[in-house]
Amino acid sequence: MSQTIAAMPALTRLAEDEVIFRDSVYEFADKEIRPLTREMDEHAKFNPDLLKKLFEMGLLSVEVPESYGGAGGTFFHSVLAVESLSRVDPSVGVLVDVQNTLVINAVMRWGTEDLKRKYLPKFATSMIGAYCLSEAGSGSDAFALATRAVEKGDGYSITGRKLWITNGNEADMFIVFANVNPDAGYRGITAFIVDRGTPGFTVGKKEDKLGIRASSTCELLFEDCVVPKSQILGEVGKGYKVAIETLNEGRIGIGAQMLGLAQGALDHTIAYVKERKQFGKAIADFQGVQFQIARMALDVETTRLLVYNSARLRDAGQPFLTEAAMCKIHSSEVAERVASMAINLYGGNGFVKEYPVEKLYRDAKIGQIYEGTSNMQLGTIAKAILGN
Ligand SMILES: Cc1cc2nc3c(=O)[nH]c(=O)nc-3n(C[C@H](O)[C@H](O)[C@H](O)COP(=O)(O)OP(=O)(O)OC[C@H]3O[C@@H](n4cnc5c(N)ncnc54)[C@H](O)[C@@H]3O)c2cc1C
Repeated sequence: MSQTIAAMPALTRLAEDEVIFRDSVYEFADKEIRPLTREMDEHAKFNPDLLKKLFEMGLLSVEVPESYGGAGGTFFHSVLAVESLSRVDPSVGVLVDVQNTLVINAVMRWGTEDLKRKYLPKFATSMIGAYCLSEAGSGSDAFALATRAVEKGDGYSITGRKLWITNGNEADMFIVFANVNPDAGYRGITAFIVDRGTPGFTVGKKEDKLGIRASSTCELLFEDCVVPKSQILGEVGKGYKVAIETLNEGRIGIGAQMLGLAQGALDHTIAYVKERKQFGKAIADFQGVQFQIARMALDVETTRLLVYNSARLRDAGQPFLTEAAMCKIHSSEVAERVASMAINLYGGNGFVKEYPVEKLYRDAKIGQIYEGTSNMQLGTIAKAILGN
């Protein structure tokens, strides 16, 4: 028995290729993203040259098999990428997260061979995708969506409005959920792939946000937008399954984004408290400060365990729904708490834009909202525990 246990790796012990991958992504983020972070936040605009570099690094096609031109990694690699990027800038983390854990994931799992051949190689070189479920009237109650798709010739005509769509500005392909048969309720929901430029489809206003400002969040408008039946992802009426199953996995990616954010805030704070002097010594020498740093580290470590465990379970084909819900809620609460403590320990400097931690505090807030609010995660956990 002891031999079996000894053979089980600790959750945070990474394989050699995973260590190399994580470190190379972090080095890239530190060198190429850190200098752009403040400007992208101020102007609420993603740097287009950075996007090119993310493609070159293979970070926008982590799980795309090599046979389709991708990096051929695992879901866990995607999680490591999102964590390492978010340690420097969570806005970059979410762009990469949506592309890998939602969009590519859905195409690989539900796409026909023709759709895979059409889209997967492009994700490896130049194409960004978006995942379009939410609407003004349907957020937590996602399946109450009002966007309709009506059969028209050899295709479907889509009419409706999507709200809050991440990557709306940069994306060239959009996975759009519409209902083909409202009488059937959620069993009418169908997933369509809509290309930018399709007549009847326009990208509307971009939101001016509190945090993750470099990540675009847009409204999408569909007015008699006709797409061929070959653009259906999965089966007609089974879009709800595509939505639920990809979001269950995507949630782990948001956990990784929040983990990276918290780690980044801790990194900055450790450096600062060693540097900053009060009462004739570094503030790191005060036990009160040391205990606060220790709590931040504890928060980061518990989050890492939950995120890595969920991702490992997913890669092993084991159930992970409850673990993913726990990882999302815990990581987003930790990100807010750790970033808040970072500001406290920076003192006045924590409150101004010249220093990096106020941005992380603003960026943390979204973790409790998108891909299912904290209340929705609590509902999932309670249902699993109470069995009702
Ligand atoms: C920056 C950003 C990016 C986003 N990106 C995307 C994207 O790429 N694609 C996409 O499809 N969507 C995206 N969203 C939408 C996001 O998923 C929704 O905002 C989220 O699911 C919450 O929906 P809502 O805003 O309508 O809030 P509501 O559903 O109106 O919730 C409001 C409050 O009520 C609570 N609540 C609602 N129902 C219940 C209940 N039954 N029990 C207890 N509490 C409840 C919620 O927890 C919340 O606190 C994004 C949103 C933002 C802000």
